[in-house]
Amino acid sequence: MHIVVCVKQVPDSAQIRVHPVTNTIMRQGVPAIVNPYDLFALEEALRLKDEFGGRVTVLCMGPPQAEESLRKCLSFGATDAILVTDRAFAGADTLATSYALAAAIRRIGEQQAVDLVFTGKQTIDGDTAQVGPGVAKRLGLNLLTYVSRIVRVDLDARRIQVERRAEGGVQLLDTTLPSLITMLEGTNEMRFATMDDMLRAARCPVKRWNKDDAGIEDVGRIGLKGSPTVVSKVFGPTPRTERAEMATVGDATSPADAALNLVQAVFTRHPDIEAGLLRGLSH
Ligand SMILES: Cc1cc2nc3c(=O)[nH]c(=O)nc-3n(C[C@H](O)[C@H](O)[C@H](O)COP(=O)(O)OP(=O)(O)OC[C@H]3O[C@@H](n4cnc5c(N)ncnc54)[C@H](O)[C@@H]3O)c2cc1C
Repeated sequence: MHIVVCVKQVPDSAQIRVHPVTNTIMRQGVPAIVNPYDLFALEEALRLKDEFGGRVTVLCMGPPQAEESLRKCLSFGATDAILVTDRAFAGADTLATSYALAAAIRRIGEQQAVDLVFTGKQTIDGDTAQVGPGVAKRLGLNLLTYVSRIVRVDLDARRIQVERRAEGGVQLLDTTLPSLITMLEGTNEMRFATMDDMLRAARCPVKRWNKDDAGIEDVGRIGLKGSPTVVSKVFGPTPRTERAEMATVGDATSPADAALNLVQAVFTRHPDIEAGLLRGLSH
């Protein structure tokens, strides 16, 4: 089984601050980490490798320092790692990112056909959740989003069954391979790196692909040139001035009684709410 896991290196959001005057993100000195959602995807891919054998290739488009994130993935047990890196990719939005990643996956598949592609649900910096679906569309893969569990993989029948968390319930989806899965957070627990894998990760070469190696056919579709999206402003949320209030109701003989007491307590404290409601009801 050949699985490709897309991982992005992101700034550790827990340490990001927004400049109080310019409202821009202050990235200086902020450590880079593997996008946390992508680790759930990697763990799921490694579990499938444990069960069926084969290889897990981790793929990242990013600056040269993103190699560190790929080494981390190797230390968890990924088989090999490819960093797609070229100045021409700089400033990519999700359209250009998914174009570049799809081209690289096509190229990876030339050596050994790819059965499954994993991405995280979303990143913690861009947050769009568009790259996975974009890659699936470009490669003609069956798209399985928000997957919470892989129920079954049948390699002979080339089928996969997954649970997908949707609003109001869980869907059971069954489709054919090759597919692309966007993996939900909290669905598994990342394994610890073994000493062997840590040593292997330190020695294993991370392949670096420029735009030609990655099979980019149209340079007008990558980087800034291929990115119609403009982020015009980034700002932190305005702190709330209102605070939650605690209302205590006196003795009540039934839930209905307690609800009535609560409504009365709220109306006494906020007559404007009662007046607004009465106005609304009279229309
Ligand atoms: C604050 C901020 C706001 C942004 N807003 C937008 C916006 O509104 N529209 C827009 O088009 N772009 C936006 N971008 C740019 C965006 O970060 C890039 O386009 C990015 O490469 C992909 O988008 P994403 O981070 O939202 O990924 P998502 O679509 O959220 O990522 C989903 C998954 O795709 C995979 N993936 C994503 N990027 C890579 C990568 N480089 N290498 C390997 N795998 C990857 C990962 O598995 C990831 O979990 C924004 C960036 C920032 C920092």
